[in-house]
Amino acid sequence: MIQDIADKIATGQRLTAADARRLYAHPNVAELGLLAHAVRMRRHPRAEVTFNVGRNINYTNVCWVKCDFCAFYRAPGSAEGYTLPNEEIFAKIDELVAFGGDTPKSNEILMQGGLNPKLRLDYYEELFSQIQSRYPSVQQHCLSATEIIYIAHLSKLPLDETIRRLRDAGLDSIPGAGAEILNDEVRDIIGFRKDRTQEWLDVHRIAHRLGMRTTATMMYGHVETLDHRIEHLQHIRDVQDEGGGFTAFITWNFQPDATDLGADPKRWNGAKATGFDHLRTVAVSRLFLDNIDHFQASWVTQGPKIAQVSLNYGVDDFGSTMLEENVVSAAGTSHTREMDLANMQRLIRNAGYEPCRRDTRYERVAALPNPQALALAAQRAPTTSSAQAAAS
Ligand code: SF4
Repeated sequence: MIQDIADKIATGQRLTAADARRLYAHPNVAELGLLAHAVRMRRHPRAEVTFNVGRNINYTNVCWVKCDFCAFYRAPGSAEGYTLPNEEIFAKIDELVAFGGDTPKSNEILMQGGLNPKLRLDYYEELFSQIQSRYPSVQQHCLSATEIIYIAHLSKLPLDETIRRLRDAGLDSIPGAGAEILNDEVRDIIGFRKDRTQEWLDVHRIAHRLGMRTTATMMYGHVETLDHRIEHLQHIRDVQDEGGGFTAFITWNFQPDATDLGADPKRWNGAKATGFDHLRTVAVSRLFLDNIDHFQASWVTQGPKIAQVSLNYGVDDFGSTMLEENVVSAAGTSHTREMDLANMQRLIRNAGYEPCRRDTRYERVAALPNPQALALAAQRAPTTSSAQAAAS
């Protein structure tokens, strides 16, 4: 039924949107896995799965955008709003460095937050430059396109100048958050105040032109159709053809708990994406996005077991050790506690691969993390959310 598409994949031909539609409709998800896995092994022939030593730091939860799928934000003026003091951010990085060691740019901080009207470009420039000078081992993989667009707007600067100044202050690379589904009709339904499709794409285009690396994401399983998902993948593939700066693609499904969208039966049908939908989506993405090297497992939303299975559906990377996660857990899903380093390595080995540490640019890092150092650092430093009470 899909032999002609399988032939195209075997000979390295590019798939069309119509091919992707047929793959999505193909009833045998295991066959999609075989095709996607063959492409993964062609690109990365070694039986290895990489992982990254990293930590999420959600520096502020204050956000005026109020996306209907988001359980993380607090509106400006909320008593539960916070902005972490710099010392608190540094304490979190101390923990990460104690865990990950001192190889240059080997420890990733994924620092993201809401669109906080009080934080302008100078706040970020000062914070990034301080982190850069204090922590040579840290890769600053920070901000979403959405945050960057807002920083430019608040600071009355063009996007390219804003990104250049952030880069010069120490921002190394940009995560793909905020993409959701790149279709404006969908964006209007799930978060109408959010940036438009072309604005999100432009941030990544500009960053690639400036020599920066970014990642691409997709959040599915809410109000979109399969055609919207394929349109999203087409946008990502087109931008990658232009600049080649996406290092990886990561997809996860909508987490409905404590969100306005999840509570609204007029917009959401209440059916959370299944494991098969996830595996199908991962496989089709690997097959369609023929110009992106790496695909990450989504254990934060899918849990360790589906993440492990996805290693045979085109995924070659287990993502970050993620010492801390606040956004998805706010929406009722949390697998971070069960995913320590030992368990991540066990899951990878048990699936038939050797775990290998990498940095944000997917270069191998020889030094392994030291969990004992993390425990000691945690005793010394004030951890995580004591600053939750700090008003923004
Ligand atoms: S998803 Fe981002 S932009 Fe939207 S409300 Fe949450 S923090 Fe704000």
